[in-house]
Amino acid sequence: MTLRGGAWRPVEFPARPTLLVHPEEGPVLFDTGYADAFTEATRPVPERFYRWLTPMRLPPGLDAASQCRSLGIEPAEVRHVVLSHFHADHVAGLNDFPAARIHCARAGLADATRGGRWRSVCAGVLRGLLPADIASRARFFEERPRVALPSDARPFTEGADVLGDGSLLAVELPGHCPGHWGLLVADARRGLNFLVADATWSVEAVRTNTPPPALTTGFLGSTRRYRATLGALHVLHVRNPDLVLTPYHGADDVPARPAGAVA
Ligand SMILES: [Zn+2]
Repeated sequence: MTLRGGAWRPVEFPARPTLLVHPEEGPVLFDTGYADAFTEATRPVPERFYRWLTPMRLPPGLDAASQCRSLGIEPAEVRHVVLSHFHADHVAGLNDFPAARIHCARAGLADATRGGRWRSVCAGVLRGLLPADIASRARFFEERPRVALPSDARPFTEGADVLGDGSLLAVELPGHCPGHWGLLVADARRGLNFLVADATWSVEAVRTNTPPPALTTGFLGSTRRYRATLGALHVLHVRNPDLVLTPYHGADDVPARPAGAVA
């Protein structure tokens, strides 16, 4: 279900939120990953179907809040969480960061809170994971100042300035689901890093421009828009193979350098 032409077998799907450290604002989390709250939220039916379809394995200490603590960061002191979208594997830890402003797409939050429980589960959303005060803590990408992206990011040209200082630029990556955005960050160690969330599930899929089957992308979002976004990421990667692409579920951390010509 994740790679067109791939074999039919269960695959491990790491879920990897990213911790960024801003010089003034302190720790900023991009997505929150799984947490024990996922187990609670998927106890009743219909939410239990989510757990059956994508079983979670979370060894102790590997949720984002515990990992923050192990780095000397108190989760209650984290002031910013940036969400790519509202699928449960991206937001399950949200309640562990109660003081954080929640930066997200208005379209994403609207879709995540629309309709009844069955409709939410079918859309990959577990309503019980969303903080009760999310409406007052949310700050929407669509309402942030629009800024031009560095030329290194072409064909992507425009982003939303999340903190107002140009350090975190949210970039819409349509197709995976309504309101799906990535984050372009100038990483002090590795240069530009494009956190592309679920716009692709591996760097290899970007390198070869190979989307998941239409059945998968059509079920979750729009196959046409997903493939247009993947195609744009492919062009970006061919033009600028040094730019780091970080898929949320990618096991491959470093950019895959094309060996010779890229098809
Ligand atoms: Zn997703």
